Amino acid sequence: MIKTMEFKLDTRLWSTKARNLTPYVPGEQPKHDNLCKLNTNENPFPPSPKVAEAIAEALVNQADQLRLYPAPESDELRQALAEAYGLNLNQVFVGNGSDEVLALVFASFFMKERPLLAPDISYSFYPVYAETFGVDLIKIPLSSDFSIETDDYRQPCSGIIIANPNAPTGILMSLEAIDKLTGEHPNAVVVIDEAYIDFADKEAVSAISLIDKHDNLLVTQTFSKSRSLAGLRVGMAFGDPSLIEALTRMKNSFNSYPLDRLAQAGALASVKDVSYFKDTCCKVIELREQLVKDLSELEFEVLPSQANFVFARPTQGNASEIAQDLREQGIIVRYFNQPRINDYLRITIGTAEQNQRLIEALKQIASV
Ligand SMILES: *Cc1c(COP(=O)(O)O)cnc(C)c1O
Repeated sequence: MIKTMEFKLDTRLWSTKARNLTPYVPGEQPKHDNLCKLNTNENPFPPSPKVAEAIAEALVNQADQLRLYPAPESDELRQALAEAYGLNLNQVFVGNGSDEVLALVFASFFMKERPLLAPDISYSFYPVYAETFGVDLIKIPLSSDFSIETDDYRQPCSGIIIANPNAPTGILMSLEAIDKLTGEHPNAVVVIDEAYIDFADKEAVSAISLIDKHDNLLVTQTFSKSRSLAGLRVGMAFGDPSLIEALTRMKNSFNSYPLDRLAQAGALASVKDVSYFKDTCCKVIELREQLVKDLSELEFEVLPSQANFVFARPTQGNASEIAQDLREQGIIVRYFNQPRINDYLRITIGTAEQNQRLIEALKQIASV
């Protein structure tokens, strides 16, 4: 029996900073059986079997090495990423999940006089980091169709951060728009958070292809979604060596060994298993297209998603109540009680069986 001590919160010993924080609230991770968890955009498929093999190898045959600190700059992993994306080693940075990479990005590039610009509807961690690091954040409204209008960003700033595809809308901004935006802000760091880019249609190209053209462009990605490794905590950033150097210095002023030996071994194996990665992304994309069809038939208005989730508005019934009804049936989706999006549900693409279970549940809810 694990006990939690009863206590009355006393913030007397806290710093002003700690007292004033409003932490990010992650999607819940409930622990009961037969739950259909479609709320945090995890991949429904397991990681490459090579990942487990590599971690087992590191654990069993090189157990003694766990005595030793891991490679501080994760050189082997970064080298593999550089090769996979056609970059140089010093254009690649890795961290303990892209959330940590983003924290270092805020500390390295946005703690300045000028404000940071971000879409009003986007990854809800950005405003949290802005507060943590004392960064003035100006939220630029998305257009009425939830797309990003680059002209709205023509104002003095320290940087711009955009998730592409955006979360929670799933809408993709074109490479041309990113190229233009980055070119218009030569003195600001433009960060494109590509947590979901691997689920975009084949014609879509990562903004990594623009790194050699713009020394102020930083692209972040993660192993959590497309590589099914949310539990391993590995994220990365790609950009000009000077930007990477700033991140490295910031990391070494905070935690010099963010990736443990097992994470480095597992992530490396994942990068090397290209065919498994591509197959999994294709499967998720196919399942998304099917789910969009099924939801549309149920009178949901679904935004055009290029991610592993859909953002859908029920035209019959109320989104918050539907989320509650689904929960009662063991299906969890994400609902944001926020202006402009409070009549939408964000639904992670599950396996064919999970998606089917969702559709059946929605039919049943509609018929009551
Ligand atoms: C999931 C997500 C992240 C964080 O990924 P981790 O690598 O798991 O920390 C970052 N940005 C966006 C937009 C995400 O959806």
